[in-house]
Amino acid sequence: MNKIIAKSGTEYYPTIGLEIHAEMKTKTKMFCRCKNDPFNSEPNTHICPVCTGQPGALPFVNKQACKNVMKVGVALGSDLADFSEFDRKNYFYPDIPKAYQISQYQYPLVSGGELVGVGLERIHMEEDTATSIHKGDRTLVDYNRSSVPLMELVTLPVIHDADTAVRFARELQLLLRTLGVGGASLEKGEMRIEANVSVSTVKPKEVFDGDFSNFGTKTEVKNMSSFKMVRNAIEYEIARQIAILEGESNDVLVQETRGWDDNKGRTFSQRSKESADDYRYFPDPDIPKYRFSDLPEFSREALQKELPELPWDKRERYARDFGIKSEDIEFYLQNPQFDTLFGEATAKLSSQDEYKKLSNYISTDLAGFEKSNKDEHKGNLENISGGELAEMVQMIDRGELSSRGAKDMLLEMYKNGGTAQSIAEKKNLIQKSDEGEIKKIVEQVIAENQEQVAQYKAGEEKLLQYFIGQGMKLSKGSANPGVLAKLFKQML
Ligand SMILES: [Zn+2]
Repeated sequence: MNKIIAKSGTEYYPTIGLEIHAEMKTKTKMFCRCKNDPFNSEPNTHICPVCTGQPGALPFVNKQACKNVMKVGVALGSDLADFSEFDRKNYFYPDIPKAYQISQYQYPLVSGGELVGVGLERIHMEEDTATSIHKGDRTLVDYNRSSVPLMELVTLPVIHDADTAVRFARELQLLLRTLGVGGASLEKGEMRIEANVSVSTVKPKEVFDGDFSNFGTKTEVKNMSSFKMVRNAIEYEIARQIAILEGESNDVLVQETRGWDDNKGRTFSQRSKESADDYRYFPDPDIPKYRFSDLPEFSREALQKELPELPWDKRERYARDFGIKSEDIEFYLQNPQFDTLFGEATAKLSSQDEYKKLSNYISTDLAGFEKSNKDEHKGNLENISGGELAEMVQMIDRGELSSRGAKDMLLEMYKNGGTAQSIAEKKNLIQKSDEGEIKKIVEQVIAENQEQVAQYKAGEEKLLQYFIGQGMKLSKGSANPGVLAKLFKQML
């Protein structure tokens, strides 16, 4: 349990609960047939009477969006609702043209479950709002985002430090992307994190029992568009609250919503927090209620079958079967294109030694080309096939290709494509292991470096590396360094 001891000696326990909104990837919006594409279109092009709140327009439910949310529930071991109902959450704002948002209050689609050890309260389905664009003294509203399917996940108040909060949010992002149900970019606003933060001198129970009374006054912090901001905002808010309770600050501690100002590195008061009563929730009379047991495609078994391999299962399998390091595994989880290459290549290899070598070239060198801005590194991952990467690794194993040559080969594959064999021939990368030919090189190095030879013979054995280096230079990198070493030792 995270505990912070103030200068006065008083011990404080922070408690954090997260509310995370994530836009669902679907063809159409939540309650109409408008295209779900809020980022790439001219303002107010994907709109209709339903999503702009015209009187008399009737909404209908997007099944795919509900399925997406329930898949998340299945992945997290949650309970799935049998009965579904949508409610109206009433408030007045230009970005909500009906003056209410359709959400779920009493009957969320998903309840319970856990992720990275953090228990969930619920996940419900709702619609996104429009976007307000402030220009000078005017505000313009773009309704393309109005009624885009949105899931809201609420954790239990069982997080006690910023690290765990960030770990949870990162893992959720990875899950949404793995399931293909959402883009989940914080920067774009596809995923929005709000943190309810409080501190208390009473140590919270190890297992949350539904009792909020000892947590202290909570504030809700929002406007964090990166994981770094989430961490900084939570840490700032914990410190701010403790400073108030310690009498070190003139700020006041009230239940309110606070924004994160990333430039100033602090939170600021936005508005007092509404309670559920303020929203006057009531069931939306225009939307039919569903009994999921009547819909076989929504059964846990049917949804389970549609799930891909989940991140935590893949982590375990990659560590067990390939023996690669955990940084590499995370890299593949985060970068599906590289993961596909790795998967295709490993299918043609057979030892952990080969998998590790392969992984190094993909996660270090190839990833380096992708990140590089240099012209000489311009290429395309699509030029490369996993099979040819496997062939490259096998050429190294057979002593035909040096690690230096492999890097050249990889860059050539990335830039122009081609098979490992054809590139090796074209670029003269085949490593010579023929002793007769290499012997000539060794003789030449010895003849040209008499001084070093004398030192070597006098006991400076580390000069062997120098000789090998000279031999590699003389052969323009084509000599097998192992054979060079063997011959130098023999001939000196
Ligand atoms: Zn519409």
